[in-house]
Amino acid sequence: MAECWQDYVARLVDDGIDDMGLEASIAKLRASDLAMAMATECVQFHGGYGYCQDYRAERLMRDAKITQIWEGTNQIHRQLIGRSFLNK
Ligand SMILES: Cc1cc2nc3c(=O)[nH]c(=O)nc-3n(C[C@H](O)[C@H](O)[C@H](O)COP(=O)(O)OP(=O)(O)OC[C@H]3O[C@@H](n4cnc5c(N)ncnc54)[C@H](O)[C@@H]3O)c2cc1C
Repeated sequence: MAECWQDYVARLVDDGIDDMGLEASIAKLRASDLAMAMATECVQFHGGYGYCQDYRAERLMRDAKITQIWEGTNQIHRQLIGRSFLNK
């Protein structure tokens, strides 16, 4: 689902569509939440090793987490998405 949406948003960019803030917010939100869910599973799967810096799962989890925070936190994106639907 997230991948199809990314392709859709990429097409909007390629087509020169300016008004795509809502679609970009949804893409950012879905992709980063999915990355975090996958990284959490990965750490859990590896047990204590998943938490150690010696293994890559720990780094993947930190990288996934920051994607929920930067480029506008996901909480703020949720509000923007909700408000934009109200305005439509
Ligand atoms: C490494 C890094 C790089 C960044 N790079 C850039 C950049 O290049 N350009 C740029 O513009 N910004 C950048 N940011 C800012 C980022 O996109 C966020 O806007 C910023 O981190 C949010 O401010 P804060 O960290 O002070 O958190 P706060 O605003 O203090 O928020 C703390 C928590 O409360 C939540 N929260 C805050 N307000 C509400 C609300 N009204 N409702 C619900 N929840 C709320 C937030 O979602 C967050 O989880 C970067 C941030 C980081 C950490």
